[in-house]
Amino acid sequence: MKRATQENVLVNWKYRQLVIVAGLLMLMLGLSVNLSAKAEQGSDSKSEWFKVADNTYVFRYKFYFTLFVKTENGIVAFDPLSNEAAEQYVKAIREAVPGAKLSKIIYTHWHTDHSTGAKILRREFGRNIPIIAHENTLARLKKLTDSDVPLPTKTVTNDGLVLNDSSNPIELKYLGYAHTNTMLIAYLPKQNLVFGVDFVNHDSMGWRDLPGVDIDELILMQKRLMKLDFKTITFGHGRPGGRQVVSRQINYYKTLLKEATSAVKKGLSEDEAVKSTVLEKYKNWENYDNWFTMNVRGAYRFVKEKLE
Ligand SMILES: [Zn+2]
Repeated sequence: MKRATQENVLVNWKYRQLVIVAGLLMLMLGLSVNLSAKAEQGSDSKSEWFKVADNTYVFRYKFYFTLFVKTENGIVAFDPLSNEAAEQYVKAIREAVPGAKLSKIIYTHWHTDHSTGAKILRREFGRNIPIIAHENTLARLKKLTDSDVPLPTKTVTNDGLVLNDSSNPIELKYLGYAHTNTMLIAYLPKQNLVFGVDFVNHDSMGWRDLPGVDIDELILMQKRLMKLDFKTITFGHGRPGGRQVVSRQINYYKTLLKEATSAVKKGLSEDEAVKSTVLEKYKNWENYDNWFTMNVRGAYRFVKEKLE
């Protein structure tokens, strides 16, 4: 994620030395080397944690973000992301809350690029730490049988679940099936904060050609999210933001859908729809160059299938 790496160019001395040696070697070979570009890939910028609200922290690993919350019973840690990320996640939790014990792990949804890594958290904090997820996540992960993704030990239905804690209640809510039928969001009423993964992102295109995404449902989910009384949203991808970030996502998908609908109604082919859909407004969004035309293709196919 370009923006994230530019903000994190802190480089430790050891790494700088390595870069200098590597740079000299490259120069000796007659090649130019961009030191600042190298530095951005430094181990220090790979992961970080920061406080986002009272007792509430964001952990980032590469372009993945997750959340952990201090409660009276211990830390509640969301998505461990991967075994590699979880090693850093452990350090982040211990730095942010010295002496912390971990009370629960929560998977937002089954996708293994967010749910992997609980094994590492359990190794460090306790083998029997409960893992909470939607019941459909359990069903999906049972089929996967991946020892790196331990199965949830407690499940939540579409009715959601409230983790009662006098200082930090956490409400797990099911808002819809646009990004798998396994997705839970977290609502922290005391912090006026929500945590949403993958179905909503910070000024970013949808993933590739929106495979399997029901765009109508996606917009509905984002609207259901807006009904919650929050001021801050943290994401699975992208930095925290305010309510306007969600409004912008809703507007983007509505516009995409409108353009695709008019292209299909005019009888344009998919390639013609790609040519005629120019949304300049979004050209600064994350992944615009890589995925915008793919988003248009995904929306075109979605509308075509719906209208046929
Ligand atoms: Zn996902």
